Amino acid sequence: MTRNDDESWYTIESDELSQCFSCGHQSYEHAEHDDLIADKETGEHDVFCPKCKSDLYFIAEEDERDWIDE
Ligand SMILES: [Zn+2]
Repeated sequence: MTRNDDESWYTIESDELSQCFSCGHQSYEHAEHDDLIADKETGEHDVFCPKCKSDLYFIAEEDERDWIDE
């Protein structure tokens, strides 16, 4: 488990609103970590909540939000 105060964390701005299913944080930013790569061939990073560093952090689509509200 990576520590929350690890200096290798950095924050990326996004055009899409994401929501954390761990702490409930919503943001147009997400966190990435240099050691946590989703796809080593493309160099694509895993995406984490910028607040609690949970990996339960997903883009909050309009349709899904409406569905959750019901
Ligand atoms: Zn979170």
